[in-house]
Amino acid sequence: MAPIQKECDYLVIGGGSGGLASGRRASGMYGAKTIAIESKRLGGTCVNVGCVPKKVTWNAAAIKETMHDAKAYGFSFEETAPFDWTGFKHKRDAYVKRLNGIYEKNLNNDKVEYLHGRATFLGKDEVEVKLDDGSKANIKAKKILIATGGHPTLPDIPGKELSIDSDGFFDIETQPKKVAIVGAGYIAVEFAGMFNALGTETHLFIRHDTFLRTFDPMIQEKVLEEYVRQGIHIHKNSSQSKIEESSDGQKKLFYKDADGESSIDVDHVIFAIGRSPEIEDLGLNKLGGIKQNEKGHLVVDKYQNTNIDNIYSLGDVCDRGFELTPVAIAAGRRLSDRIFGGVTDAHLEYENIPSVVFAHPEVGSIGMTEPEAREKFGNDNVKVYKTSFTAMYYAMMEPADKGPTAYKLVCVGKEERVVGLHIMGQGSSEMLQGFGVAVKMGATKRDFDRCVAIHPTSAEELVTLK
Ligand code: FAD
Ligand code: NDP
Repeated sequence: MAPIQKECDYLVIGGGSGGLASGRRASGMYGAKTIAIESKRLGGTCVNVGCVPKKVTWNAAAIKETMHDAKAYGFSFEETAPFDWTGFKHKRDAYVKRLNGIYEKNLNNDKVEYLHGRATFLGKDEVEVKLDDGSKANIKAKKILIATGGHPTLPDIPGKELSIDSDGFFDIETQPKKVAIVGAGYIAVEFAGMFNALGTETHLFIRHDTFLRTFDPMIQEKVLEEYVRQGIHIHKNSSQSKIEESSDGQKKLFYKDADGESSIDVDHVIFAIGRSPEIEDLGLNKLGGIKQNEKGHLVVDKYQNTNIDNIYSLGDVCDRGFELTPVAIAAGRRLSDRIFGGVTDAHLEYENIPSVVFAHPEVGSIGMTEPEAREKFGNDNVKVYKTSFTAMYYAMMEPADKGPTAYKLVCVGKEERVVGLHIMGQGSSEMLQGFGVAVKMGATKRDFDRCVAIHPTSAEELVTLK
């Protein structure tokens, strides 16, 4: 069957956070004839196997913790009732499916044509899409956006096919009794905290002494300390050599750590060691030398331009270094403002982007870490304000149940401009957004101090630091 022929102003490859945001703005706001192609499920990583199902699971874990805390406040009930992981998982799946439908409706409302299939470049301005029914569509486009995201990376060890990655986490049907998680970034730390809070014996394997190593040392140290206090087994300075399956379906992970060589039997080995750009099927060789970095990410400037005219890229597949949903969305909208809306300088500022790790407790961070600031401005120009304390929430609890809170402001120069803000403790994820606005506006320590505290909160400590 001959391919269907189509033409458009804007072709968006990838129906995830960035692609949908850009496509909808181009068509809905500026009237560009737009086609979006998605090969899996609309919404991409965030909606299907990322932020959304993760946060819902984090909420479940936080509720479990609250149930434990409730006793200290005088409530009495049996905590032994098991968590219905299977029922919860199916409900979470249904929620995600509803979102998929809403995303499709939104595309429709903004008059973006949606094709479900896998896209491959035929040339600089033409893409072939393999559609679900086996037929093909050839689309010629004036401008093309590559927003194909990424996928989890797996290590090259024997038995790696017996492990799962973060996508597999969301497929787990019954609550594991025991898991091994390998990795030291956002995902490993978030998954470890959730499993542990929900009652799964959790082993976290990290390559170095600490995790979240791109965060301020205070965050690394305090979260690690807290994870150990909560009973998460941290295997520091570890490496993994192979995985085998035993007759009862358990996975045996062979590893080496500070105590020597050993193995552990678990229900799941989960690797969360970073992600790679999703470029495999794109036929990039048809583009005559599109620039990629050593990991394969597409190289773009701050305007999301690749080195090929009229081909743009954003989100996890590009090399800007922030794999976050709001970053992909903001870059996508600004790109459409620029190329279809006439806002000639529209681009995302990649400085001072706030982010949160949904650890237990939550972590929030914006700007430079203390070592980064000292390196850039020199020790004499950096002043650090910090505090750690027990939040009032824990006042009614036994010492063993009290969680930590720690905040740090990194300030620079005589005017003490706040160039870094690092917080951990209950409520940090919701707190960070507002403080992010202040940091982005260039607030100084004095500006923080001029804001009257809200009492009694934890956040008030950030405007009364000495
Ligand atoms: P994606 O959302 O990955 O979308 C790309 C889409 O392109 C995919 O749907 C894919 O199927 C499609 N595609 C790929 N190749 C083709 C092709 N050839 N043809 C057609 N379609 C194609 N970020 C946060 O900000 N907060 C969080 O709490 C958070 N939690 C996360 C938790 C996990 C477990 C993970 C894995 C990620 C999390 N992230 C979070 C990161 C966030 O999900 C990503 O940064 C974001 O989804 C990137 O958006 P994107 O548009 O670049 O790509
Ligand atoms: P990250 O890049 O955050 O962390 C992966 C870490 O794993 C590396 O930094 C490294 O840390 C460690 N690592 C790498 N290779 C190995 C190995 N072979 N063995 C053991 N450890 C290894 O990746 P994630 O997979 O955690 O997440 C991907 C991205 O998704 C994140 O960067 C983040 O941008 C996004 N995300 C955002 C979330 C949020 O906003 N809350 C939540 C989840 C994901 P080290 O060098 O210390 O060993």
